[in-house]
Formats: sequence, structure tokens, C-alpha cells
Amino acid sequence: MIHMRNICKQYDTGTVALDHVNVDIKKGEFVFIVGASGAGKSTFIKMLFREELPTSGKLMVNGHDVVHMEHREVPYLRRELGVIFQDYRLLPDKTVFENVAFAMQVIEAPRRLMQRSVNSVLDVVGLRDKYKCFPSQLSGGEQQRVAIARAIVNDPAIVIADEPTGNLDPDTSWDIMDIFKRINKAGTTIVMATHDRAIVDTMKKRVIAIENGQIVRDQLRGGYGYEA
Ligand code: ADP
Ligand code: ADP
Repeated sequence: MIHMRNICKQYDTGTVALDHVNVDIKKGEFVFIVGASGAGKSTFIKMLFREELPTSGKLMVNGHDVVHMEHREVPYLRRELGVIFQDYRLLPDKTVFENVAFAMQVIEAPRRLMQRSVNSVLDVVGLRDKYKCFPSQLSGGEQQRVAIARAIVNDPAIVIADEPTGNLDPDTSWDIMDIFKRINKAGTTIVMATHDRAIVDTMKKRVIAIENGQIVRDQLRGGYGYEA
């Protein structure tokens, strides 16, 4: 599903954010990307949806050659991915329903399917009764649920999340993780960068630890580890 070979990323500033990274992630896996601030986690995540291109190396995501694909193919890659950020990134002038529906309008899904799919993913995240609310009327945890609903409404092959619980208190974070667990149980591959030691240690999923742009540990049923 994800195949990285000797991926290097050097930013224009000279910073080497990823240094010969090799990773294979299979369909249905749940993978945590951990590491100190500045280790390269976000850069790793951004490679996957072609927000950043590697400087060198090979990257395949769900059958797409991310490095060599043409610009017009990028939307096809992205519609197979659901991306979730720490800061939710909802459209403030749209309701919960519209935020989720928008992801389907972008891919020109039929109207009927849209109504049904949006309701169904709002059920998955437990927000059906808030469909008319605007983001500003929701708690942080509820806003993140909307972002998750939006990410899964087109039934992506891979859900990619960058610090999705970074702005949430521990109880709310666990509610959010329960949703990710359910999505993963349904067969969706999940790749999540996180700082949350308690979550990583409790969930016992695959852990890829990055330090200074290098993978220093790749462990099935791993823990968070010792870095600060
Ligand atoms: P993490 O997500 O683990 O905090 P990042 O991937 O954001 O790490 O950053 C890795 C390194 O790359 C850091 O040294 C950071 O300062 C640098 N970096 C990240 N984004 C950019 C950018 N757009 N331009 C220059 N340097 C960057
Ligand atoms: P760019 O043109 O800068 O490569 P886009 O205009 O395609 O980016 O994307 C706009 C914003 O949407 C970006 O901030 C990007 O992080 C985000 N984004 C891109 N693909 C997805 C996706 N599949 N799901 C959610 N957000 C995405």
C-alpha cells in the first residue's frame, strides 16, 4: 500500500528532514509515526499525499508512483487518501453536513449517494444530531470528528493523520482514537504521526520511530519509546 525506498528530503533551507527512509506498509495496518519535535514526522506524512516531494528515492502510494506522477494525476491520488490534521481545517462558513458533503462534491459524487454517505459517516463519528452546526459551535473533539468524517466519506484506502489529538485533552483523545480503531477494523490502513505516549503505549500497534530524519526503530506491537 505504501512503499518507500531511500527517501530523502532536503528543504530549500538545507535542512535534511528525511534521510534514506525505507518503509513498507501493508493494507489494513495501523502505524504510529513517533519522534521528537523536528524529527521529520510531518515531512514523512506530507510525502504520502504529495504535499511535499522527496528530493530522491522511490515512493509508491496505493499503486501511484508519487515522485513521477503528472500534476493532473495528483487529485486521483488524493481522493484515495483521507487526511486529518491537528488543527481540523474545517471550512468555517459551512455546516457539519456541508463540510463533509464538500469532500464528495469535489469528486462529483451523485447527489443521492452524497446524502446517504454523509449521514452514514456522521453516524460513525457520533455527530448526526449536530449536522446543522457550524464548526465554531463545536468543541475541539467534535470538530476533529467532523474532520474524520470528511476524511472517510469517500472510502479512502489510507487514512493519514498528523497529530490528530494534539489539541485535545486525554479523554477526548481516547474518544477520537476509538473512532480510528473502528475505521481500521473496517479494513482501512491508518498512518498516524503522534506525540501521545499514552495512546501509543496502550494501543500496541506498529511503531516507526524517527530521529533526525532516520528510522531508528520499526516495531510491531511497539511502544512510544524513550525519546523526549
Ligand atoms: P516533526 O513533524 O517531527 O516535528 P518536521 O517534518 O516538521 O518534523 O520537520 C523536520 C525538519 O525539517 C525540522 O528541522 C524542520 O525545521 C524542517 N522543516 C520542516 N518543514 C520545513 C520547510 N517547509 N522548510 C524548511 N525546513 C522545514
Ligand atoms: P497544493 O496545491 O498546495 O499541493 P492543494 O490545493 O491540492 O495543495 O490542497 C489544499 C489543502 O488541502 C492543502 O493544505 C493540503 O494539505 C490539503 N489536502 C490535500 N489533499 C488532501 C486530502 N486528500 N485530504 C485532506 N486535505 C488535503
